[in-house]
Amino acid sequence: MKLANRIDHMTGGTPDGWEIYYRTRDMIAAGEKILNLTIGEHDVKTDRAILDAMHGSAVRGNTGYSFGEGNVALREEIAGRVAARTGVPTTAQNVMVTTGGQAALFTSHMVLLDAGDRALFCDPYYTTYPGTIRATGAVAVAVPTRSSEDFQPQEAAISSVAQGAKTLLINTPNNPTGTVYSRQTLEGIARAVKAHDLWLISDEVYDTQVWDGEHLSPRTLPGMAERTVVVGSMSKSHAMTGSRLGWVIAPEPVIRAIAALATNMTYGVPAFIQDAALFALRRGEGFEAEVAAPFRRRREIAARVLKGANAIRVIPAQGAMYLMLDIRATGLSGKEFAVRLLEEERIAVMPGESFGQSAAGHLRVAMTIDDERFEEALTRLAAFAERLLP
Ligand code: PLP
Repeated sequence: MKLANRIDHMTGGTPDGWEIYYRTRDMIAAGEKILNLTIGEHDVKTDRAILDAMHGSAVRGNTGYSFGEGNVALREEIAGRVAARTGVPTTAQNVMVTTGGQAALFTSHMVLLDAGDRALFCDPYYTTYPGTIRATGAVAVAVPTRSSEDFQPQEAAISSVAQGAKTLLINTPNNPTGTVYSRQTLEGIARAVKAHDLWLISDEVYDTQVWDGEHLSPRTLPGMAERTVVVGSMSKSHAMTGSRLGWVIAPEPVIRAIAALATNMTYGVPAFIQDAALFALRRGEGFEAEVAAPFRRRREIAARVLKGANAIRVIPAQGAMYLMLDIRATGLSGKEFAVRLLEEERIAVMPGESFGQSAAGHLRVAMTIDDERFEEALTRLAAFAERLLP
């Protein structure tokens, strides 16, 4: 019996780039001690008070079908948060609650793209992006960025591939590079998007993790609210990765289309998870800063440990829970370096190539183990890189 071609088309029929991570997982399962800096997940678990709110809601009987778009109170809370932080008028009608940021990305592309459309995304990219785009039947087109420009997307690079395209997907603060797009970058993006009449899908799931400067949502720029779809999530901001709660902020027709899609797919997010999310959001910015604090600290540790390294250039770590290291001076590819680091030092990092060709010769380091082991891992990684210098 033959399956649909859709999934092969979505995956591109190639390895998904997570080979080092899978190998690390197997080695750990076999009892090996590995310093694992591959995966973007907090080392602290969801806060007990949030779990108590979730449990309390379920016990009170919130276990039935929920509203497909999300409960009104939660949608109003998210709209209020977005309006307060960006100044852009936003109501519950502009909010769709989704099963995590990933479903927000998926459904946004599903309602904006038809089969055969051209859809742009910036390289390096979060690993699901090309597959998410291809799942709609659209053609995924990479916009290259440069290490020497700290991976900030350039207006000219977007414009050169934008002819006939329908969407552009961006991500700031950025996974995998740790950069935060500057106002200048975002203004360039907005000009290109308007000139080519594109929808902008802005993935802002790391918006509470900014170490340098400020997060600017492109939806705030003139003429952009009506063509911007923002993806948000509780995963990173509130250490709630497993709860699967995210959202889309968009013009009302987009929200109505996503709601129709959800009716035929998920029905919506469980009500007790939504209640926990509402409780968590109402804890405010202080709690978000607490969740972000370990990454802020480790970024300082990295700056100290890697200062003066000859084999490594650190891409300015401005936000999100990652460091991007340029190791091209060693003469190895990111993949060769990562394999040898795992085999010889028992330290696991992701090769830049897993996130696209623009990050070749780089490594992505997730700052997701405790400070002491993080410092040890980086110290040994730096010494390993120095030994490789020709
Ligand atoms: N977008 C980016 C850039 C991410 O790094 C991730 C997860 O790592 C997601 C979206 C999806 O997150 P979630 O579905 O847990 O909200």
